[in-house]
Amino acid sequence: MDFKQYIRVIPDFPQPGIRFKDITTLLKDGPAYKAAIQDLAVFAREVQADVIAGPEARGFVVGAPLSYEMGIGFVPIRKSGKLPYESIKADYDLEYGKDALAVHVDAIQPGQRVLIADDLLATGGTIETTINLIEQLGGKVVGAAFFIELSYLDGRSKIGDIPVKSLVQY
Ligand code: AMP
Repeated sequence: MDFKQYIRVIPDFPQPGIRFKDITTLLKDGPAYKAAIQDLAVFAREVQADVIAGPEARGFVVGAPLSYEMGIGFVPIRKSGKLPYESIKADYDLEYGKDALAVHVDAIQPGQRVLIADDLLATGGTIETTINLIEQLGGKVVGAAFFIELSYLDGRSKIGDIPVKSLVQY
């Protein structure tokens, strides 16, 4: 399926110069959303993931259905201050702005094969931070799956040799 036609590009949002890739136009189309998740599930099976981790908030709308499709667990990587149990935290830079992500200390078991899922790979800061958190817990990141990759920002360079799958590239 040509997923690019389902993505709406909004110029100068949330600030001048950013071309925002709006995935709500893909999500509201049932067959397109399902096909996108199923395509990423092929990759998740190839890398033999046994748990999916997704960063808040759009990582949830990719990662949670992917884990359901696979019949494996989902670990939310949340903005700092949201998780109720003992957590570890890491700061990071965005294409626009700064943030911090956190995960429960018991969310990943040592040696678990973790696939990270998110809507979009931009600078790679979010993924780099998520990898850092998972590795601190002893997890092995076996892949990173996205609806969209902004190739011109070269986020892949932050991911090292971890396999990356994206459905649409700009
Ligand atoms: P990054 O950490 O730079 O790879 O950015 C990752 C997150 O920021 C993605 O998960 C998106 O949710 C959001 N993001 C960054 N740039 C864009 C963009 N141009 N359009 C839509 N979302 C973006």
